[in-house]
Amino acid sequence: MHATLLIGGTLVELSPPRLVRADLLIARDRIVDLSTEIPTTSTLDCSGCLIVPGLVLGHTHLYSSLATGLSLPGPAPTTFKEILERIWWRLDQALDERSLRTSALIGGMAAVRAGVTTIVDHHESPNFIDGSLDVIADALREVGVRAYLSYGTTDRHGPAGAQAGLRENERFLGTTDPLIKGMVGLHAPFTASDQTLAATADLASKKGAWLHFHAAEGPDDQQAAQERWGTRLLPKLDQLGLLGPHTLLAHGVDLDASERDLLQARGSWVTHQPRSNQNNGVGYAHRLLGLEQVALGTDGIDQDVMAELKAACWAARAHTGPAIWPDPIGRLSAGHQLLQALSGDTFGSLTPGSPGDLTVFQYDPATPLSANNLGGHLLFGLGSQHVRDVFVAGRPLLRNRRLVGLDERATHAQALEIAAQLWRKLS
Ligand SMILES: [Zn+2]
Repeated sequence: MHATLLIGGTLVELSPPRLVRADLLIARDRIVDLSTEIPTTSTLDCSGCLIVPGLVLGHTHLYSSLATGLSLPGPAPTTFKEILERIWWRLDQALDERSLRTSALIGGMAAVRAGVTTIVDHHESPNFIDGSLDVIADALREVGVRAYLSYGTTDRHGPAGAQAGLRENERFLGTTDPLIKGMVGLHAPFTASDQTLAATADLASKKGAWLHFHAAEGPDDQQAAQERWGTRLLPKLDQLGLLGPHTLLAHGVDLDASERDLLQARGSWVTHQPRSNQNNGVGYAHRLLGLEQVALGTDGIDQDVMAELKAACWAARAHTGPAIWPDPIGRLSAGHQLLQALSGDTFGSLTPGSPGDLTVFQYDPATPLSANNLGGHLLFGLGSQHVRDVFVAGRPLLRNRRLVGLDERATHAQALEIAAQLWRKLS
């Protein structure tokens, strides 16, 4: 049995905010009572550290990990649709098994370095669909992180492409891995036919699975909804059976008040990724303000939830003005609540019986820290640069800032070659 005793440090519970100075024992995959007798235990000195339930990244695209610094020839895109067409839809078409595997590995490693213990990924590789989620899963197993994977089904490449996407989602739902699970993915309503939208909803319903899709990210979704159905987007998605308590909708930038109310009424989850929205120039997702079931994603900008947290709070302040103070603790804690909903397990707590997913920040501030001012430290002090150790299901993935069982230098050297090949293919 692997067991680790974390000595010292401060346990940080986010919901409700609570700081406790205590030791922590994890045995097998769970946090256990300190009095539990365990024959062999390794110990970890966490003096001067904050121990937080492992961070949840609610929406990302690991396939974009090799795009950092990518610059393509031709005119720069001027609309959100052009950004998709000239960058992301070219990149995803160029992916093959090798480049996808490397992307997932590099992205998974970056996530763990940023303190992330669960990745909710949304994937597309139109020229390598069958088995693509297995390739991502295998790479993430090397890293050891927990993950929810789905394929973004779309009609961008005709009905055969959409069928292949649906099949890949259905196939991967049968995965039996304690850490890696499937969801039913859809790219976005404006790139899917009515038939594909209905088939996606049917598949999720038949399998009792979660849905994961982009919606109302830019203007295109609402425009397409008006043209195709003569209605706003979300009522139509609701009619098609795509909105419910097992829906994870990414973005929701372009919503009206009634669509926001509809999301709330259906108990759907939303992910918010303000840095991506800013980068794409699609505006601020102001209708999400005040909604509870809103977790943070990074949309593949990077895998740094702590950076997204700060960006989310600054974006909210820029929109609301200085009188309204954002809630960084609630935003981070929403990721744990999403994971609880996805898994049915008690994530987000550090009490005995909870899963052994935790992030250790080496953070010894020069100013007082308490439950009352934790939000201020999350915004102005603590960051991914402080992540020292990461555990998932009791297993250490990062120890003293080193990834366990991975040769990071060799992996990066190999990734550099594969990224250069991928970029040549694109240009
Ligand atoms: Zn996305």
